[in-house]
Amino acid sequence: MTDVTASPPVRRLTDWDLPRLESLAAEYETPLYVMDRDRVKENYVRFSSAFPDADVMYAAKAHTGTAVLEAVLEVDGTIECAAWGELQRSIDAGADPNELQYTAVNPPDRDLDYAAELGAENPGLTITIGAVDTLERLADRGYDGRIAIRINPGIGTGHHEKVATGADAKFGIPYERVPEVADRVREEFDLVGIHAHAGSGVLTDDLEDHCEAIERVGEMARRVGDDDLEFVDVGGGYGVPYREDEPPLDLEKTSDMVRDAVGELEAQLKLEPGRYIVADAGLILTEVNTIKEAPDTTVVGVDASLSTLIRPAMFGSYHPMLNVSAPDREPIEATVGGPVCTSADVFAHDRPIAELERGDVLAIGNAGSYGYELANQFHSQPRPAEIALEDGEARVVRRRETLEDVTRLEK
Ligand SMILES: *Cc1c(COP(=O)(O)O)cnc(C)c1O
Repeated sequence: MTDVTASPPVRRLTDWDLPRLESLAAEYETPLYVMDRDRVKENYVRFSSAFPDADVMYAAKAHTGTAVLEAVLEVDGTIECAAWGELQRSIDAGADPNELQYTAVNPPDRDLDYAAELGAENPGLTITIGAVDTLERLADRGYDGRIAIRINPGIGTGHHEKVATGADAKFGIPYERVPEVADRVREEFDLVGIHAHAGSGVLTDDLEDHCEAIERVGEMARRVGDDDLEFVDVGGGYGVPYREDEPPLDLEKTSDMVRDAVGELEAQLKLEPGRYIVADAGLILTEVNTIKEAPDTTVVGVDASLSTLIRPAMFGSYHPMLNVSAPDREPIEATVGGPVCTSADVFAHDRPIAELERGDVLAIGNAGSYGYELANQFHSQPRPAEIALEDGEARVVRRRETLEDVTRLEK
């Protein structure tokens, strides 16, 4: 295994072994997800080293693939789950259910049935509730175990309004109601923590806003009695640079500011990064099939689409792109889009990229988080294969779907 303690804070597309990527595309076909397990481990270890006495849980929803969950567990990481399927997949990957945390957001009955049963057999399981209804529904199921209260700090942060959850009424107990809910939890359950997850995509410049929310979490923990809590969980949201000229998150500064903001606590600090752990560990390889000169731009058609990676269409996200086959050609201004019949199916408008030709392989970077996880079969497109790299070796960790997989559920 590579030395995970001294890893670079960011991996750009140009840092990948480009000839290797081109041969992977040839061998496994495109579109193809590539996930570097060594980099997942490096990211986890680097992040947790910046918070030496905190507990760092990987938020599984960023990428719930078994190969990723196993990588986190191999470096002694723990896992935060937001749905029953994530809990089951973490257990299947080898996680101890007693160390899992389940964050319930408007949980369907099936999720609560599963979590209550899991908690009955594994008293270490923690369930984070964001509504009193969830408490009542857990009590109905005979659950009286560990509970954390998700609070709504009233402040959200992040790269897009759809992920700035901190001020969204959907998430967490309204701030001023938390002490009364804490009393109620203590009557019937074991109150172990206070939790908030305020946003996503936080970079160094966003830290001040982010820490304002965290300050409120610390305040509330002291109000409900931090000497009687096991942990104060300030959630995830730590970003990676998507643009080539953006600096990576300054982890040392982040750690100082988060500690400062949360303040003196008897309880242990906990964090739940998702994106930070997996984003730059993954990319998509896609093949160019069409080049069309239009009056204002060169349209480059590729075989990946918004069903492969939905973030640009859903959040307007920027993803770095590189011509893997010929990175040194003169750049053109390319508008890169896939085969789906909507103008939202465009990865970039007028992006300078080394001139592309039909058959070239294009890499789309930072696809390790919320990439395959949000992939779908729109336009009857089978989902791509996923390759894991480790110690330079490649293996298929998710086979390419066939049309049969797409139609399998039809009757
Ligand atoms: C999504 C989520 C996270 C991780 O968010 P990132 O932006 O990927 O770090 C952490 N905690 C909870 C409760 C979440 O829902």
